[in-house]
Amino acid sequence: MKIAVLREDPSLEPRVAATSETVKKFIASGATVAVEAGAGRPAGILDADYGTAGASVVEGREAVLADADLILAVRRPAALHGAKHGAALVALMDPFGNEQALAELAQAGISSFSLELIPRITRAQVMDVLSSQANLAGYQAVIEAAAHFGRAMPMMMTAAGTVPAARVFVMGAGVAGLQAIATARRLGAVVTATDVRPAAKEQVASLGAKFVAVEDEEFKAAETAGGYAKEMSADYQAKQAALVADHIAKQDIVITTALIPGRPAPKLVSAAMLSSMREGSVVVDLAAERGGNVEGVTPDQVTQKDGVTLIAYTNMAGRVAASTSALLARNIFAFVESMTDKETKALRIDRNDEITAATLLTHEGSVVHPRFAPAAP
Ligand code: NAD
Repeated sequence: MKIAVLREDPSLEPRVAATSETVKKFIASGATVAVEAGAGRPAGILDADYGTAGASVVEGREAVLADADLILAVRRPAALHGAKHGAALVALMDPFGNEQALAELAQAGISSFSLELIPRITRAQVMDVLSSQANLAGYQAVIEAAAHFGRAMPMMMTAAGTVPAARVFVMGAGVAGLQAIATARRLGAVVTATDVRPAAKEQVASLGAKFVAVEDEEFKAAETAGGYAKEMSADYQAKQAALVADHIAKQDIVITTALIPGRPAPKLVSAAMLSSMREGSVVVDLAAERGGNVEGVTPDQVTQKDGVTLIAYTNMAGRVAASTSALLARNIFAFVESMTDKETKALRIDRNDEITAATLLTHEGSVVHPRFAPAAP
């Protein structure tokens, strides 16, 4: 199997889909690997490192794609000129709302797999890119907040007196939120958190943070079978907003991470709530890529509103690219390995396999995923 590792657009994506470590593993399992020159640079991996790992380093997109059976990228590439009919593509495909791009890939005969659709089942944990990336994004959100906060995070007791601990409020206690809680706690902050899923309550408490939420009947049924949050009713959102408005005015740092798969991010922090926060507070919106949880944030900008710093990087995971790439590349290796035939060493696309069925978007000329396939005429 010939594997191509693409160089991302460095202005959008500093991560890389394969590291020297995973290149070595692919080669040990019988593949050959071509890396587009410069692919690892923003994540701290030099072309020479890939060369030492056994890959060939190739200048230019078309040259690296020529003959590739499997193309690895972090994000869905804008174009794949030169890729052969029948090649497979593994990437964060961002399929929601991008039906046209999927149709084009299908037409080009590419079998594309969406890493973000890997099911959250035990067998697939090692491939779970959403978790590995969200984990570090949650950590980094706290680091960014602390860097912009003009005060100390822990309570400091000194001969000159005491400075209080920062109060941190985390909204959305999934993978990123739980890591944000843990990181803020390690830095000595007093942490509270909210979520709409009841299962989050115990997880928040186990990290030493206080859970703040509207715990009505709708809350008790807010988790889908897949473990994700449902979109809440307008009535619930109003109750939640009233509770949050009260709480947020007393916080120094707010980190929002609330997402609903395939939907715009829920708006949780209004302009009025922001203006109730005291001067010098910091808000980090980790949902910025999906429209944001906070009113008035500018994607990829750090802005000021009424003395509050608003941070809305759309690719927080990319701000720790060496670490996130190391994990992402291992996730991708495990995913590819699970589809590789042990005898022939080629990719075997078995549509009866649960992980393949959940992730395969385009195959043999069509969009095949039930969520994205065009409706029958
Ligand atoms: P996510 O990124 O989809 O959303 C982040 C958090 O925002 C979630 O906890 C969600 O409940 C919350 N949220 C949504 N709407 C909200 C609102 N209006 N107000 C407040 N919070 C809101 O979630 P995720 O981090 O991907 O995790 C989703 C679930 O998947 C969790 O239950 C997690 O434990 C589970 N999970 C399971 C596995 C596994 O392998 N079994 C791995 C990772 C995560």
